Amino acid sequence: MPLWKKLFGMAVASLRDIGFGLLAANFLAAHFGEPVTTMVWYGLGVLFAILPDTDIIVQKIAGAPVDSLHRQSVMHTPIIMIGGALALYLLSPSFSVLAAVCLFLHFVDDTIGDENAGTGVAWLYPFNTRILVIFCKEDGQRNLVRWEGSWHLTPVPLEVWLERFWLRPTKEATINIAVFAIAIAVVLLQGGGLW
Ligand SMILES: [Zn+2]
Repeated sequence: MPLWKKLFGMAVASLRDIGFGLLAANFLAAHFGEPVTTMVWYGLGVLFAILPDTDIIVQKIAGAPVDSLHRQSVMHTPIIMIGGALALYLLSPSFSVLAAVCLFLHFVDDTIGDENAGTGVAWLYPFNTRILVIFCKEDGQRNLVRWEGSWHLTPVPLEVWLERFWLRPTKEATINIAVFAIAIAVVLLQGGGLW
């Protein structure tokens, strides 16, 4: 797959997280009494919202296959990541809460399953290694909740995943574009600091 196509697919796949990051920045800036939401807030919101998925860069650097197993990294462990963000509260209360909220939204999003039943998040790691998935589809059946003892997925290579969900007009891609469009509309209406 050409690099441009891969980057385009990853951008579409990230639109939902980016949208959540923009919305979180917008509302939290107001909550913390910022007169306007600045580029720094929006930029950090997007960064924190996509941060866990940068673990595919680790797979790449390590020479491992770039696939869905990236979600088993420490970057996808809510207690460690959100705990780490909140531990920085004394340094910067506002950005610490922004990071915690954006990370939380990312992990909730990853908990919601799709046709790839292997998604999910180890919410209680390192105390418990069970993986929580909700609304996943497995063997043609839709499960409301799956609380599995361990990862049992067959890794889905990045390129297969991009082709399946993000490089075709799918329900998932439509939802991502819609969330992103809503976030941009909110930013344009309320983000007075940018223009
Ligand atoms: Zn993720």
